Amino acid sequence: MNDPISPISPASQPPLHCPVAIVGAGPAGLMAAEVLSAAGIEVHLFDAMPTVGRKLLLAGIGGLNLTHAEPLPAFKARYGARAADCGRWLDAFGPQALRDWAAGLGIDTFVGSSQRVFPRDMKAAPLLRAWLQRLRHPASGVPVRFHMRQRWSGHLQPLAPSSAPPGYCLHLQGPQGQTEVHARAVLLALGGASWPRLGSDGAWMPWLAQHGVALQPLRPSNCGFDVAVGTRLGWSAHLQQRFAGAALKGVLLRFTDANGQAFERRGECVLTQTGLEGSLIYAASAQLRDGIEAAGRVRIALDLKPDWSRNRLQAELERARSGQSLGTLLRKRLGLTPAQVALLHEVLPPAQRHDPAQVAATLQNLPLELVAPRPIAEAISSAGGVALEGLNDALMLQPLPGVFCAGEMLDWEAPTGGYLLTACMASGRVAGLGLAAWQRAQPTAASTCAPTAAEPQIAKQPPSDITGDIAALG
Ligand SMILES: Cc1cc2nc3c(=O)[nH]c(=O)nc-3n(C[C@H](O)[C@H](O)[C@H](O)COP(=O)(O)OP(=O)(O)OC[C@H]3O[C@@H](n4cnc5c(N)ncnc54)[C@H](O)[C@@H]3O)c2cc1C
Repeated sequence: MNDPISPISPASQPPLHCPVAIVGAGPAGLMAAEVLSAAGIEVHLFDAMPTVGRKLLLAGIGGLNLTHAEPLPAFKARYGARAADCGRWLDAFGPQALRDWAAGLGIDTFVGSSQRVFPRDMKAAPLLRAWLQRLRHPASGVPVRFHMRQRWSGHLQPLAPSSAPPGYCLHLQGPQGQTEVHARAVLLALGGASWPRLGSDGAWMPWLAQHGVALQPLRPSNCGFDVAVGTRLGWSAHLQQRFAGAALKGVLLRFTDANGQAFERRGECVLTQTGLEGSLIYAASAQLRDGIEAAGRVRIALDLKPDWSRNRLQAELERARSGQSLGTLLRKRLGLTPAQVALLHEVLPPAQRHDPAQVAATLQNLPLELVAPRPIAEAISSAGGVALEGLNDALMLQPLPGVFCAGEMLDWEAPTGGYLLTACMASGRVAGLGLAAWQRAQPTAASTCAPTAAEPQIAKQPPSDITGDIAALG
């Protein structure tokens, strides 16, 4: 099969032979490397970026939400249509196992008021540092060998059919040119397509499609949305200039999804330049995105005063002293924030602003239309990717025996709340263990691979210096 990026060019160096090549050093690839290393298998881990786990580090900037403390059945249900598949991975490595694993790295965790689980210091860097240390110097098992700044070009060709056990040739492009890697088995943990500057750009989609791998289009998940107010796309200039970035706390979001199911949840969202984002919107993002795909737009309603009865709200508005502006009244008597007042002004025509019944009804049923998800590059995560139907239970690709996949590049999605990292790591573990079992079952598989006489000199910088990365991500 041809290299989809460039014609196959002869490698400038002798091939690097290895039992297992993992491409992608995010949480999924690192977890796969850990279980393989513990199984005594020599793993070579390649990543396009100069250092590992950049998205994990970014996740730590706002407080690393590792997992969630709700009961396992509720936890599994967060994966929606993929609850059964992800549930299988989680049976072997669920939220408590993840907390125990972190504790094994010396990272204590705590359960926040929302049941979300965080490292005691909220950060990702100490966890990643301890993890890398253990991967490079395991108490038992084979040290993982890291190759940074090595970008897989998409070239993945079976080695000669006569070779036993079977294997693959991969091309990796690095600062010193192209390296040919001959691996008996391959594990891809390339991530989705959100925040591409951190390394995961979804470029692998057409490459795997060429190999007959079943894929679902990558789509934004846990993303913001653009709004329309009446016939106008987006907010007024006033709201954009004064209130983009303002949080709307304790609001209730209601809408009916494309399947006719009512969604109603309370939480926090944030006004953006073009619409809305934030944890409440992310929690609904799959249904909102699917609804927009089906019908072009989704009508939502925000209740800005969900704890007040309509009567109480209206009575308070009617008691207003004459001469008091609506804005002052709403802030002083109803406790609305300036951003909430601005939002009311966006949707309520001036003629209706003196009618307490209209104002009360709008405050509790503020109508907006969401017309487009924000681009995938801005999203927290992506939906779509490698279809789970094209993988066996060990996450090996059916068209490519000996090639395994894990993490966000698989077709599942979940809201924020620690569900993303938990499933990425759990799937990395399933794929790593599956690969180890598969390799053991091969005719002449060995746990290490004899290097060629002249092993290629590809960059093997220790991936331990992540301090500069954290600043660079900001
Ligand atoms: C702002 C933000 C905050 C987040 N916060 C949280 C949170 O608090 N809790 C949570 O659960 N989740 C959070 N997430 C999501 C979580 O970080 C991801 O789901 C997770 O990192 C995905 O892991 P992964 O290993 O599958 O992929 P990634 O972490 O994306 O890693 C994939 C790796 O593959 C490499 N790669 C890709 N293509 C190639 C190639 N061709 N050649 C070589 N290498 C390649 C990339 O460089 C990258 O290092 C957050 C995400 C973002 C963007």
